[in-house]
Amino acid sequence: MVLADVVERNARLRRSEAAFVFEGRTLTHERFAERSFALGNALLRLGLSRQARVAVLAENRPEYFEIFAGVGAAGMITVNLNWRLAVPELTGIIADCEPQILIFDGPSEAKAALLRHAPGIRWLVALDSAPDWARSYEEMIGSEDTSRPGVEVAPEDIESLIYTSGTTGRPKGVMISHRALLAAASVIAWEGEARTDDRMLIVMPLFHIGGKIEQMAFWLAGATTVLHRSFDPAAILHSFAQDGVTAAHLAPTMVARLLDHPDLDATAYSRLRVIHYASAPMAVPLLRRAMEAFGPIFLQIYGMTECITVSILKPFQHRPDGTPDEVQRLSSAGQPCFGVSARIVRPDGTGCGPGELGEVAVRSEGLMSGYWNGNALTLAAVRDGWFRTGDIGFLDRDGFLFIADRAKDMIISGGENIYSREVEDALMSHPAVREVAVTGVPDPEWGESVKAWIVPRDGAEPTPAALIDHCRSLIASYKKPRFIEFTTDLPRLFNGKVDKKALRARTLTPDGSVARGA
Ligand code: ATP
Ligand code: MG
Repeated sequence: MVLADVVERNARLRRSEAAFVFEGRTLTHERFAERSFALGNALLRLGLSRQARVAVLAENRPEYFEIFAGVGAAGMITVNLNWRLAVPELTGIIADCEPQILIFDGPSEAKAALLRHAPGIRWLVALDSAPDWARSYEEMIGSEDTSRPGVEVAPEDIESLIYTSGTTGRPKGVMISHRALLAAASVIAWEGEARTDDRMLIVMPLFHIGGKIEQMAFWLAGATTVLHRSFDPAAILHSFAQDGVTAAHLAPTMVARLLDHPDLDATAYSRLRVIHYASAPMAVPLLRRAMEAFGPIFLQIYGMTECITVSILKPFQHRPDGTPDEVQRLSSAGQPCFGVSARIVRPDGTGCGPGELGEVAVRSEGLMSGYWNGNALTLAAVRDGWFRTGDIGFLDRDGFLFIADRAKDMIISGGENIYSREVEDALMSHPAVREVAVTGVPDPEWGESVKAWIVPRDGAEPTPAALIDHCRSLIASYKKPRFIEFTTDLPRLFNGKVDKKALRARTLTPDGSVARGA
């Protein structure tokens, strides 16, 4: 199966039903197929070759999916660019993957104007009104044949090149085949019980795998996507009621913002049956508040660009069952998905026992075809078919996976390994704490020390001593923070992940010593 097969199937099965609801507009499955295929034909007419790269620099909009579908149907590769990146960063990515065409929207026009002279770029296409140096997307597809492009596309062909979030370093270009994409989407569709009559709210930016794969999971079922351009809590809450949303995909920080919003009225969202959250762990106190407000309708996904979906904690596994394991379980990332194998390995590659911390390794149909231009990186990351995630965690006796930290964020203090998640969870359980992030800071005596960045709750004024005392009662003394700094917000990446690189940089003075603490 390839992407275009799904487009065709939906057009047959759900012809005049809405494929997309976006800013008051509706696009049927049939129209979506026609527009996508027209784009594929237009790209072929330009003379783009098989597996040529087509870059997209745009905010969320239905055309983004037409591009995925049309480019895929023409046997080419979509490169989803993060529109938040600065021009030099985008130039670096373009130099890496050499797209021949750049499709951009109005808000990114100024960046596209600077990128248009990048080597290799031959065509520029504007989704909104076209400047004189670009052609219009609408005009380009308007006069085209709307039947499926007559190109043979194999499941192993690369469908897209998605750059990782860059949390730990430079973003890496991940090659995703049609087979991997559809396998991962099927896993979510199956495990998340996607239904044909679902109305799935997507708001995560489409240059990241999360929003794309969640949309595709529900789209496989022929469902309707309620697409949002960007995250506006009032608009999301309104959309839950107005658009009859049945399922949604959100980052944990988005859930927190909905809970704090004055318009929250969970009784108005009677059709909402499941909220998927992913990208980062959700602290247990936040999860509990969320379940009080929305009910036990949460489903967590742990995954990454390279393997897409790894494990799922299902709604019924979120329900308090009164056992001592329950709190524990809420902080887990669930069990490996259907068809996905996860194991924990020691540095020498041997397997860890239950409860033993090591690196999470994954084998699945959703595995990437490799990093673009990154043979050595691929060889280091994928060994014997197992992808080394760079995440440290353990599996318990029941097969629940717990993610402790990223290997690169782990703090080594006085020879002891400290996982930031454990310290963060301890601090989050203090009633005065709204958000927290823990990083290591250089320490001449211990190598590294634990530093906690705290966003207090409105009106709360916790003291560092009180917070450190609180940790003492929950975690070993050597893990407690030595430095606490209060802040009004944490730097975050586009998908809600705390930007620990930026936090660590905030700590250091130019000579590399620690700037401030408490
Ligand atoms: P880079 O690889 O460039 O450093 P990144 O790893 O953040 O960036 P992504 O592929 O978008 O890029 O994110 C995958 C990572 O996000 C996982 O390896 C894991 O660390 C984290 N993650 C995703 N889902 C969860 C979750 N449910 N719980 C905890 N961590 C998660
Ligand atoms: Mg990563």
